[in-house]
Amino acid sequence: MAEELPFFDARREAVELETELAEAFRRVAASGRYVLGEEVTAFERELAAYLGRRHCVGVGNGLDALRLVLLAYGVGPGDEVIVPAYTAVATWMAVSLSGAVPVGVDVDRRTYNIDVTCVAASLTRRTRAVIPVDIFGQPADVDAVTEIAAEHDLLVIEDAAQAIGSLRNGHTVGSGAAAAALSFYPTKNLGAVGDGGAVVTDDAELAATVRMLRSYGWRTRGNSEIIAGNTRLDELQASILRVKLARLDRWTARRRAIAKRYLQAFAGLDSLQLPEVASGMDAVWHLFVVGHSNRDTLSEMLARRGVGTLVHYDPLPHLTPAYQALGWRAGSLPVAEWLAKRSLSLPLTPHLADEEVEAVISAVRAAV
Ligand SMILES: *Cc1c(COP(=O)(O)O)cnc(C)c1O
Repeated sequence: MAEELPFFDARREAVELETELAEAFRRVAASGRYVLGEEVTAFERELAAYLGRRHCVGVGNGLDALRLVLLAYGVGPGDEVIVPAYTAVATWMAVSLSGAVPVGVDVDRRTYNIDVTCVAASLTRRTRAVIPVDIFGQPADVDAVTEIAAEHDLLVIEDAAQAIGSLRNGHTVGSGAAAAALSFYPTKNLGAVGDGGAVVTDDAELAATVRMLRSYGWRTRGNSEIIAGNTRLDELQASILRVKLARLDRWTARRRAIAKRYLQAFAGLDSLQLPEVASGMDAVWHLFVVGHSNRDTLSEMLARRGVGTLVHYDPLPHLTPAYQALGWRAGSLPVAEWLAKRSLSLPLTPHLADEEVEAVISAVRAAV
């Protein structure tokens, strides 16, 4: 059977916002300014306000948001940065591209988030920073990471690419950390119509340095103060992100309602590991990931019933060919590896209709 219910369909957001997006495009086209103009400035102001952070700097993508924060703080060759095993490869790549070495640590088997008890065991003289990742939209325990970091004089940079709008004990992403990195890749909860990312921080000096690092080392146009590349959020993306940011809370509420329905509907299915949210954490359900001992078969059976699924992430970053040179092997990070073999992401987007949610539930029940 052809796939009837795709895992993700970017067109649904475009259809919902057709008029506003056309208006945003007209505004940018009429301004004649396509790079670093009023739309980016306005979006940065609006996003900083939304997250309660003092500064926001738009960049080309989420990977560069992380990479530029590392560069700005002088993390590079000779340094080690602790990253969770269970994350998108971008978290690891940002560290590698800075010149530092990513040091993977294992994760909690219930939340998939960094296991803070594993951080201490991985510290060396070279450790400079820790990057907790808010995986699947659930905040990591940044407070606990920050405590260890304070004892050892380490930076904490939050990878919040999947978690815009989430709350940790009532606090937004980036609080307690030196900075948080966001991604606006189209599938993210706040998605552009191309690539985009941002750094949010309360550190004015960091924000100023990231601004220079995103555009040729310029504080004023043409006058390079440092050597830097080009990774900017453009005007068109910013104008579209402004439209979508105004919808984000409504979309997040819908994600939460669907997650609640799934959790209730699947509660009796013993063979299915359900997502668990730690106390004090308010997740935004970027992904709804279940665990099953026969993941690939489950995925095929759901596909035959017209339900699209994806796997996030297998192989994990440390088991990709790129990281074999650093000596990582199967068995290095056992909890994360066990989770990775079992995990399957079910469709969960704000644009799923109630009937579609029920269709997913029936298909999962039948398949399991
Ligand atoms: C998407 C993502 C990134 C990177 O974002 P891009 O915009 O694709 O570069 C980084 N970390 C995590 C956890 C992500 O999900």
